[in-house]
Amino acid sequence: MIKIDGKGVSQKILAYIRKEHDILKEKYGRSAGLGVIIVGDNPASKVYVNNKIKACENVGFYSETISLGGNITEKDLIKEIERLNKNNKIDGILVQLPLPNHINELKITETIFPEKDVDGFHPLNIGKMVIGDNTGFLPCTPYGIIQLFEEYGIDPAGKDTVIIGRSNIVGKPAALMLIQRGATVQVCNTKTKNINEKLKNADIIISAAGVPNLIKGTDVKEGAVVIDVGINRVKGKLCGDVNYEEASEKVGYITPVPGGVGPMTIAGLIKNTFKSYINKVEK
Ligand code: NAD
Repeated sequence: MIKIDGKGVSQKILAYIRKEHDILKEKYGRSAGLGVIIVGDNPASKVYVNNKIKACENVGFYSETISLGGNITEKDLIKEIERLNKNNKIDGILVQLPLPNHINELKITETIFPEKDVDGFHPLNIGKMVIGDNTGFLPCTPYGIIQLFEEYGIDPAGKDTVIIGRSNIVGKPAALMLIQRGATVQVCNTKTKNINEKLKNADIIISAAGVPNLIKGTDVKEGAVVIDVGINRVKGKLCGDVNYEEASEKVGYITPVPGGVGPMTIAGLIKNTFKSYINKVEK
Protein backbone atom coordinates (compact mmCIF):
# COMPACT_ATOMS: atom_id res chain seq x y z
CA MET A 1 0.00 0.00 0.00
CA ILE A 2 1.27 3.45 -0.88
CA LYS A 3 0.12 6.36 1.24
CA ILE A 4 -0.21 9.32 -1.12
CA ASP A 5 1.65 12.27 0.36
CA GLY A 6 -0.48 15.23 -0.71
CA LYS A 7 1.31 17.52 1.68
CA GLY A 8 4.71 16.63 0.23
CA VAL A 9 3.56 16.94 -3.39
CA SER A 10 1.92 20.28 -2.62
CA GLN A 11 5.12 21.59 -0.99
CA LYS A 12 7.09 20.55 -4.06
CA ILE A 13 4.66 22.40 -6.36
CA LEU A 14 4.74 25.52 -4.17
CA ALA A 15 8.57 25.50 -4.03
CA TYR A 16 8.71 25.32 -7.84
CA ILE A 17 6.22 28.18 -8.23
CA ARG A 18 8.09 30.30 -5.68
CA LYS A 19 11.27 29.96 -7.76
CA GLU A 20 9.56 30.69 -11.10
CA HIS A 21 7.59 33.58 -9.61
CA ASP A 22 10.75 35.20 -8.21
CA ILE A 23 12.21 35.25 -11.73
CA LEU A 24 9.08 36.75 -13.33
CA LYS A 25 8.59 39.25 -10.51
CA GLU A 26 12.11 40.54 -11.15
CA LYS A 27 11.50 40.66 -14.91
CA TYR A 28 8.06 42.32 -14.89
CA GLY A 29 8.26 44.33 -11.66
CA ARG A 30 5.15 43.02 -9.97
CA SER A 31 3.98 40.01 -7.97
CA ALA A 32 1.10 37.72 -8.77
CA GLY A 33 -1.94 38.76 -6.72
CA LEU A 34 -4.91 36.94 -5.22
CA GLY A 35 -8.02 38.70 -3.89
CA VAL A 36 -10.09 36.69 -1.41
CA ILE A 37 -13.58 37.61 -0.29
CA ILE A 38 -15.05 36.00 2.79
CA VAL A 39 -18.65 36.64 3.84
CA GLY A 40 -19.88 36.00 7.38
CA ASP A 41 -18.05 34.17 10.14
CA ASN A 42 -18.17 30.47 9.28
CA PRO A 43 -15.19 29.07 11.28
CA ALA A 44 -14.30 26.42 8.64
CA SER A 45 -14.29 29.10 5.90
CA LYS A 46 -11.95 31.23 8.03
CA VAL A 47 -9.51 28.33 8.37
CA TYR A 48 -9.60 27.64 4.60
CA VAL A 49 -9.07 31.32 3.75
CA ASN A 50 -6.17 31.60 6.22
CA ASN A 51 -4.51 28.56 4.66
CA LYS A 52 -4.88 30.05 1.19
CA ILE A 53 -3.40 33.39 2.29
CA LYS A 54 -0.52 31.58 4.03
CA ALA A 55 0.20 29.69 0.80
CA CYS A 56 0.29 33.02 -1.09
CA GLU A 57 2.82 34.37 1.41
CA ASN A 58 4.83 31.16 1.11
CA VAL A 59 5.26 31.61 -2.68
CA GLY A 60 5.68 35.41 -2.52
CA PHE A 61 2.31 36.40 -4.04
CA TYR A 62 0.53 39.60 -3.08
CA SER A 63 -2.85 38.93 -1.45
CA GLU A 64 -5.81 40.94 -0.27
CA THR A 65 -8.55 39.59 2.01
CA ILE A 66 -11.90 41.35 2.11
CA SER A 67 -14.01 40.26 5.09
CA LEU A 68 -17.67 41.18 4.77
CA GLY A 69 -20.51 40.86 7.26
CA GLY A 70 -23.00 38.02 6.81
CA ASN A 71 -25.82 40.48 6.11
CA ILE A 72 -24.14 42.22 3.15
CA THR A 73 -26.49 42.57 0.17
CA GLU A 74 -25.86 40.74 -3.07
CA LYS A 75 -25.50 44.10 -4.82
CA ASP A 76 -22.75 45.27 -2.45
CA LEU A 77 -20.91 41.96 -2.76
CA ILE A 78 -21.02 42.30 -6.54
CA LYS A 79 -19.51 45.80 -6.21
CA GLU A 80 -16.57 44.35 -4.25
CA ILE A 81 -16.00 41.73 -6.95
CA GLU A 82 -16.15 44.37 -9.68
CA ARG A 83 -13.51 46.37 -7.81
CA LEU A 84 -11.21 43.32 -7.80
CA ASN A 85 -12.03 42.63 -11.47
CA LYS A 86 -10.62 46.10 -12.32
CA ASN A 87 -7.63 45.95 -9.94
CA ASN A 88 -4.42 45.36 -11.96
CA LYS A 89 -2.58 43.98 -8.93
CA ILE A 90 -5.09 41.12 -8.73
CA ASP A 91 -4.73 38.09 -11.06
CA GLY A 92 -7.08 35.77 -9.22
CA ILE A 93 -10.34 36.28 -7.36
CA LEU A 94 -11.84 33.81 -4.95
CA VAL A 95 -15.14 34.13 -3.12
CA GLN A 96 -15.09 31.59 -0.30
CA LEU A 97 -18.17 29.35 -0.36
CA PRO A 98 -20.70 28.71 1.08
CA LEU A 99 -22.39 32.12 0.92
CA PRO A 100 -25.40 33.14 3.05
CA ASN A 101 -28.75 31.93 1.66
CA HIS A 102 -29.91 35.37 0.49
CA ILE A 103 -27.00 35.55 -2.00
CA ASN A 104 -27.20 33.72 -5.33
CA GLU A 105 -23.92 31.79 -5.65
CA LEU A 106 -24.24 31.35 -9.40
CA LYS A 107 -24.69 35.08 -9.93
CA ILE A 108 -21.61 35.78 -7.81
CA THR A 109 -19.56 33.20 -9.71
CA GLU A 110 -20.61 34.76 -13.01
CA THR A 111 -19.58 38.25 -11.85
CA ILE A 112 -15.92 37.24 -11.52
CA PHE A 113 -14.07 37.83 -14.80
CA PRO A 114 -13.41 34.36 -16.28
CA GLU A 115 -9.73 35.32 -16.75
CA LYS A 116 -9.48 35.92 -12.96
CA ASP A 117 -11.65 32.96 -11.93
CA VAL A 118 -8.90 30.90 -10.28
CA ASP A 119 -11.45 28.67 -8.51
CA GLY A 120 -12.54 27.50 -11.97
CA PHE A 121 -16.27 27.85 -11.22
CA HIS A 122 -17.29 30.37 -13.92
CA PRO A 123 -19.48 28.76 -16.62
CA LEU A 124 -16.89 29.67 -19.28
CA ASN A 125 -14.14 27.80 -17.43
CA ILE A 126 -16.49 24.89 -16.74
CA GLY A 127 -17.31 24.77 -20.46
CA LYS A 128 -13.62 24.75 -21.37
CA MET A 129 -13.06 21.88 -18.95
CA VAL A 130 -15.92 19.89 -20.52
CA ILE A 131 -14.41 20.12 -24.01
CA GLY A 132 -10.81 19.73 -22.85
CA ASP A 133 -9.69 23.28 -23.77
CA ASN A 134 -6.77 23.85 -21.40
CA THR A 135 -6.71 27.65 -21.69
CA GLY A 136 -9.17 27.94 -18.77
CA PHE A 137 -8.88 27.23 -15.07
CA LEU A 138 -9.70 23.84 -13.55
CA PRO A 139 -11.56 23.62 -10.21
CA CYS A 140 -8.83 23.35 -7.56
CA THR A 141 -9.75 20.13 -5.71
CA PRO A 142 -10.11 17.81 -8.73
CA TYR A 143 -7.14 19.60 -10.31
CA GLY A 144 -5.16 18.67 -7.19
CA ILE A 145 -6.31 15.04 -7.49
CA ILE A 146 -5.15 14.89 -11.12
CA GLN A 147 -1.74 16.24 -10.03
CA LEU A 148 -1.51 13.43 -7.46
CA PHE A 149 -2.27 10.86 -10.18
CA GLU A 150 0.46 12.34 -12.36
CA GLU A 151 2.97 12.43 -9.51
CA TYR A 152 2.32 8.78 -8.57
CA GLY A 153 2.08 7.51 -12.18
CA ILE A 154 -1.59 6.53 -11.84
CA ASP A 155 -3.18 6.52 -15.30
CA PRO A 156 -7.00 6.79 -15.09
CA ALA A 157 -7.44 5.56 -18.70
CA GLY A 158 -9.55 2.40 -18.78
CA LYS A 159 -10.10 2.43 -15.01
CA ASP A 160 -13.57 1.80 -13.55
CA THR A 161 -14.02 4.84 -11.35
CA VAL A 162 -16.66 5.51 -8.72
CA ILE A 163 -17.12 9.04 -7.39
CA ILE A 164 -19.29 9.60 -4.31
CA GLY A 165 -20.80 13.09 -4.41
CA ARG A 166 -21.98 15.20 -7.32
CA SER A 167 -21.24 18.76 -6.14
CA ASN A 168 -20.21 21.45 -8.60
CA ILE A 169 -16.90 21.93 -6.79
CA VAL A 170 -15.71 18.31 -6.45
CA GLY A 171 -17.82 15.40 -7.74
CA LYS A 172 -18.97 16.75 -11.12
CA PRO A 173 -15.67 18.37 -12.19
CA ALA A 174 -13.69 15.33 -10.97
CA ALA A 175 -15.90 13.14 -13.18
CA LEU A 176 -15.37 15.37 -16.22
CA MET A 177 -11.62 15.57 -15.73
CA LEU A 178 -11.35 11.80 -15.40
CA ILE A 179 -13.58 11.17 -18.43
CA GLN A 180 -11.25 13.52 -20.34
CA ARG A 181 -8.38 11.22 -19.31
CA GLY A 182 -10.12 8.04 -20.44
CA ALA A 183 -11.63 6.71 -17.21
CA THR A 184 -15.07 5.05 -17.09
CA VAL A 185 -16.89 7.01 -14.42
CA GLN A 186 -19.97 6.49 -12.24
CA VAL A 187 -21.05 9.44 -10.09
CA CYS A 188 -23.09 8.48 -7.00
CA ASN A 189 -25.28 10.47 -4.65
CA THR A 190 -27.56 9.75 -1.68
CA LYS A 191 -30.18 8.23 -4.03
CA THR A 192 -27.80 5.83 -5.78
CA LYS A 193 -28.66 2.11 -5.49
CA ASN A 194 -26.13 -0.57 -4.51
CA ILE A 195 -23.23 1.80 -3.85
CA ASN A 196 -21.32 -0.94 -2.01
CA GLU A 197 -21.42 -3.19 -5.08
CA LYS A 198 -20.16 -0.38 -7.28
CA LEU A 199 -17.36 0.43 -4.84
CA LYS A 200 -16.25 -3.21 -4.65
CA ASN A 201 -15.69 -3.28 -8.41
CA ALA A 202 -13.95 0.11 -8.65
CA ASP A 203 -10.32 0.51 -9.67
CA ILE A 204 -10.46 4.14 -8.52
CA ILE A 205 -12.70 5.52 -5.75
CA ILE A 206 -13.06 9.24 -5.08
CA SER A 207 -15.16 10.01 -2.04
CA ALA A 208 -16.52 13.55 -1.58
CA ALA A 209 -19.61 12.96 0.54
CA GLY A 210 -18.65 14.45 3.89
CA VAL A 211 -19.76 11.34 5.82
CA PRO A 212 -17.24 9.78 8.24
CA ASN A 213 -16.69 6.01 7.97
CA LEU A 214 -18.81 5.86 4.78
CA ILE A 215 -16.32 3.56 3.03
CA LYS A 216 -15.13 0.55 4.97
CA GLY A 217 -12.48 -2.06 4.30
CA THR A 218 -15.10 -4.47 2.93
CA ASP A 219 -16.16 -1.86 0.31
CA VAL A 220 -12.83 -1.66 -1.49
CA LYS A 221 -11.13 -3.94 -3.99
CA GLU A 222 -7.58 -5.26 -3.53
CA GLY A 223 -5.16 -2.81 -5.14
CA ALA A 224 -7.71 -0.01 -5.70
CA VAL A 225 -6.77 3.68 -5.68
CA VAL A 226 -8.73 5.51 -2.97
CA ILE A 227 -8.90 9.29 -2.90
CA ASP A 228 -10.60 10.66 0.21
CA VAL A 229 -11.82 14.24 -0.27
CA GLY A 230 -14.10 14.31 2.77
CA ILE A 231 -13.27 16.58 5.67
CA ASN A 232 -15.15 15.64 8.82
CA ARG A 233 -14.61 16.32 12.48
CA VAL A 234 -15.30 13.43 14.85
CA LYS A 235 -14.72 14.07 18.57
CA GLY A 236 -12.54 17.03 17.66
CA LYS A 237 -10.37 15.00 15.27
CA LEU A 238 -10.24 15.47 11.48
CA CYS A 239 -11.09 12.47 9.34
CA GLY A 240 -12.24 11.72 5.82
CA ASP A 241 -15.07 9.55 4.45
CA VAL A 242 -12.95 6.42 4.34
CA ASN A 243 -12.08 4.15 7.24
CA TYR A 244 -8.35 4.56 6.64
CA GLU A 245 -7.15 1.73 8.92
CA GLU A 246 -9.40 -0.86 7.26
CA ALA A 247 -9.03 0.33 3.67
CA SER A 248 -5.25 0.71 3.81
CA GLU A 249 -4.96 -3.06 4.46
CA LYS A 250 -6.28 -3.76 0.97
CA VAL A 251 -5.77 -0.83 -1.40
CA GLY A 252 -2.87 -0.01 -3.70
CA TYR A 253 -2.89 3.75 -3.02
CA ILE A 254 -4.76 5.87 -0.50
CA THR A 255 -4.81 9.53 0.55
CA PRO A 256 -4.82 10.31 4.29
CA VAL A 257 -6.97 13.00 5.94
CA PRO A 258 -5.42 15.37 6.80
CA GLY A 259 -2.38 15.57 4.49
CA GLY A 260 -3.95 14.21 1.28
CA VAL A 261 -6.31 16.16 -0.96
CA GLY A 262 -6.57 19.28 1.25
CA PRO A 263 -3.05 20.64 0.59
CA MET A 264 -3.44 19.75 -3.11
CA THR A 265 -6.53 21.99 -3.34
CA ILE A 266 -4.33 24.87 -2.21
CA ALA A 267 -1.62 23.88 -4.70
CA GLY A 268 -4.30 23.95 -7.43
CA LEU A 269 -5.33 27.46 -6.43
CA ILE A 270 -1.74 28.73 -6.41
CA LYS A 271 -1.09 27.09 -9.80
CA ASN A 272 -4.21 28.72 -11.26
CA THR A 273 -3.27 32.14 -9.86
CA PHE A 274 0.24 31.82 -11.27
CA LYS A 275 -1.17 30.80 -14.66
CA SER A 276 -3.42 33.88 -14.66
CA TYR A 277 -0.42 36.09 -13.73
CA ILE A 278 1.69 34.62 -16.55
CA ASN A 279 -1.20 35.15 -19.00
CA LYS A 280 -1.23 38.84 -18.05
CA VAL A 281 2.47 39.73 -17.72
CA GLU A 282 3.56 37.79 -20.79
CA LYS A 283 0.76 39.10 -23.03
P1 NAD B 1 -21.63 18.63 -0.84
O1 NAD B 1 -21.64 18.65 0.64
O2 NAD B 1 -22.12 19.77 -1.64
O3 NAD B 1 -22.39 17.33 -1.35
C1 NAD B 1 -22.13 16.04 -0.90
C2 NAD B 1 -22.45 15.07 -2.00
O4 NAD B 1 -22.26 13.76 -1.50
C3 NAD B 1 -23.89 15.14 -2.51
O5 NAD B 1 -23.90 15.00 -3.92
C4 NAD B 1 -24.59 13.93 -1.85
O6 NAD B 1 -25.62 13.40 -2.65
C5 NAD B 1 -23.42 12.96 -1.72
N1 NAD B 1 -23.57 12.09 -0.55
C6 NAD B 1 -23.65 12.45 0.74
N2 NAD B 1 -23.80 11.36 1.52
C7 NAD B 1 -23.83 10.30 0.70
C8 NAD B 1 -23.99 8.91 0.89
N3 NAD B 1 -24.15 8.39 2.12
N4 NAD B 1 -23.98 8.11 -0.19
C9 NAD B 1 -23.82 8.63 -1.42
N5 NAD B 1 -23.67 9.94 -1.67
C10 NAD B 1 -23.69 10.76 -0.63
O7 NAD B 1 -20.17 18.22 -1.33
P2 NAD B 1 -18.79 18.99 -1.40
O8 NAD B 1 -18.92 20.44 -1.20
O9 NAD B 1 -18.23 18.44 -2.66
O10 NAD B 1 -17.99 18.40 -0.15
C11 NAD B 1 -17.89 17.03 0.12
C12 NAD B 1 -16.86 16.77 1.19
O11 NAD B 1 -15.59 17.12 0.70
C13 NAD B 1 -17.05 17.58 2.47
O12 NAD B 1 -16.63 16.81 3.55
C14 NAD B 1 -16.11 18.76 2.26
O13 NAD B 1 -15.68 19.33 3.48
C15 NAD B 1 -14.98 18.09 1.53
N6 NAD B 1 -14.17 18.97 0.69
C16 NAD B 1 -12.84 18.84 0.81
C17 NAD B 1 -12.00 19.59 0.02
C18 NAD B 1 -10.52 19.41 0.16
O14 NAD B 1 -9.79 20.24 -0.29
N7 NAD B 1 -10.06 18.31 0.73
C19 NAD B 1 -12.54 20.49 -0.91
C20 NAD B 1 -13.91 20.58 -1.03
C21 NAD B 1 -14.73 19.80 -0.23
